Amino acid sequence: MSEILVLVEHVEGQVKKVTLELLTLARKLGAPSAVWAGPGYTAEAQARLAEHGAEKVYVADSADIADHVVAPKAELLAQLATEKSAAAVLVAATAEAKEIAARLAIKLDAGILTDVVGIQDGMVAEHSIFGGGVNVRARVTKGLPIIAVRPNSTPVEPAAGAGAEERVSVAVSDAARAVRVVERVKEEKGARPELTEAAIVVSGGRGVGSAENFSIIEKLADSLGAAVGASRAATDAGWYPHQFQVGQTGKTVSPQLYIAAGISGAIQHRAGMQTAKTIVAINKDPEAPIFELADFGVVGDLHQVVPQLTEEIAKR
Ligand code: FAD
Repeated sequence: MSEILVLVEHVEGQVKKVTLELLTLARKLGAPSAVWAGPGYTAEAQARLAEHGAEKVYVADSADIADHVVAPKAELLAQLATEKSAAAVLVAATAEAKEIAARLAIKLDAGILTDVVGIQDGMVAEHSIFGGGVNVRARVTKGLPIIAVRPNSTPVEPAAGAGAEERVSVAVSDAARAVRVVERVKEEKGARPELTEAAIVVSGGRGVGSAENFSIIEKLADSLGAAVGASRAATDAGWYPHQFQVGQTGKTVSPQLYIAAGISGAIQHRAGMQTAKTIVAINKDPEAPIFELADFGVVGDLHQVVPQLTEEIAKR
């Protein structure tokens, strides 16, 4: 069966959920091989990858890979793709992995599809383009398909794979060593799930009214085990940190449930959330464009609706 390379997303030795989603997708296309680049590889990580169908786990954790930014990872994938005659490379549609994918595509003179939300037979990818304005089915017609898949677009299905470990040494070029990591600072993270990985996201916009009022958004999020997001109007006003901005110039999320409170639904906001499975809008203006997109809508003042919702969820 043809080999599908899956670039593993990991933090402090923990395999991120999006990798399990990629492995689930890869199983439909061929035999998945996980590619671990960088430090932190453990037997537990190997087991987790194997439990989700990885037949092989390629490990490249030399200092060259760990200490330099994206370029060595693109060289690693290029080397493996060529040596193993891989049929496709899947990465997560994160900022870093998309850059790796782009560099890989240039190296291999191959086609790339980004912001993919599903892959059908014949490697036909469904993806979201022009800031989310258009959904397209596309297929790479030249070289190896390199596909960047949005987190949360595929439900994880465990399946046993052999998980055979293979150490890989990669001859990193001088060009790829041009930029070196000098320090890694951990993003402040609280108990909430990471925004781009969360199954539920509760976002607040200008309608929230102030930084203090964001506490009602946080309480609703916590009652649901959700991440908190914000529109650019809210982050620009300094009510919520920029790292939580959803949209064209913020993060792209694709959760099972997205609750937009006091957000009008501007195209730039939609670009970051419109592939959510179910969208709930809370807005006092029945004409707000967000209602065109929403599966469920509540016309009302969020300062009343959101606390009531939180209370109701807490009772269950
Ligand atoms: P508004 O558009 O002001 O909407 C507020 C909504 O809250 C209204 O619909 C109102 O009816 C409702 N409301 C008010 N009070 C209440 C209440 N008490 N209860 C219930 N509802 C209430 N935006 C992003 O979000 N993300 C991006 O990444 C982004 N990138 C951009 C990039 C560019 C190049 C540009 C030009 C713009 C970008 N924007 C982005 C900005 C975008 O165009 C909108 O201005 C922004 O999304 C509006 O945020 P909002 O919906 O919170 O505010």
